[in-house]
Amino acid sequence: MAVVEVNLGKDSYNIHIGAGILSELGQLMRQFAFTAKALVVSDENVGAIYGAVVVETLRQAGFSPRLVCVKPGETAKAYETAMTLYTAAIEEGLDRRSPIVALGGGVVGDLAGFVAATYLRGVPFIQVPTSLLAQVDSSVGGKVAINHPLGKNLIGAFYQPQLVVIDTAVLATLPRRELYAGLAEVIKYGLIADRDFFHYINEKSNAILAMDNNVLTAIISRSCRIKADIVEQDARESALRMVLNFGHTIAHAIEAGTGFAQFNHGEAVAIGMRGAALVSHYMGIAEPEVVENVCGTIRRFHLPLSVAGCSAAKLHSYLLHDKKVIGGKINWILLRSVGEVQVHSDVPEQIVSRVLAEIT
Ligand code: ADP
Ligand code: ZN
Repeated sequence: MAVVEVNLGKDSYNIHIGAGILSELGQLMRQFAFTAKALVVSDENVGAIYGAVVVETLRQAGFSPRLVCVKPGETAKAYETAMTLYTAAIEEGLDRRSPIVALGGGVVGDLAGFVAATYLRGVPFIQVPTSLLAQVDSSVGGKVAINHPLGKNLIGAFYQPQLVVIDTAVLATLPRRELYAGLAEVIKYGLIADRDFFHYINEKSNAILAMDNNVLTAIISRSCRIKADIVEQDARESALRMVLNFGHTIAHAIEAGTGFAQFNHGEAVAIGMRGAALVSHYMGIAEPEVVENVCGTIRRFHLPLSVAGCSAAKLHSYLLHDKKVIGGKINWILLRSVGEVQVHSDVPEQIVSRVLAEIT
């Protein structure tokens, strides 16, 4: 059991992490002055497994919850789905102090968070992330959004939850591929901020892959702490927060270049981190061992190192279309060593081409 405090002034909140704490959710929510009506948003996969436990713990704590399950997958992050959730909230009579609980992966968190941020100009938001990716990424940062047919996450807000509850035991039912994807972001935190943590992840790889609850609690709380330290200094996403984008410039190009079908986000980030390490090396910033360290760790957690079926040229054009590229300049987050990053906007074209050729 661990608690990570996210300090954002009046928007501060705690993240509770531990095995089996899903059934304590109701009790943990009683500390707030919420009214009894509550909306629990989940998807059909997660809702079928954990919906009943959550409804029960909320009932026992005096809430009257209504569970709404959306279709699994990115397509649920749509205006139409948000509308059905507003309708449920209105029909149930949720008021300004009624909580909306997100029970699911990143999709459910983004969608339910967006509805919580906008229904009645904002109602309390509780996050119960059930995928490793959502536990280590979306629990901190306050980014909520839905997609527009013309682009992902185009309609959204910064909206902080009042409480985050992470039960490591729910990862037992998460598809293995999704577990590995979450580990890509965990590896990222070690690389950008914490050399000891990076070594810990490698040392404990067997325990992690065997889902040891104590080790999972340790890596999730450390990841949340690292992200919180960065977000606390930069809540509105200016320069500092850029380091969280390590591996993501190439990852976004890979996701778009392969039609969002071949790789999930974490897999694209794994390849992107290898690419960023190679750029760091060719720029003369990082020793070759850094690249080997990155690749070895990615391999250890069953993540891919290269893209098949997308040419370097195609990747390059998507790279320049990234929304974070301003005036044709890419801000590269590069590694000096494990745990130490530098931002560079002057990476020569030849180095980028060489690296893209190497990862395709
Ligand atoms: P992500 O969390 O990776 O951003 P999703 O919200 O789409 O993306 O979740 C990934 C998939 O894993 C979805 O199909 C979701 O239903 C499923 N899922 C999430 N958490 C669990 C869990 N604990 N057990 C089983 N399936 C889960
Ligand atoms: Zn990411």
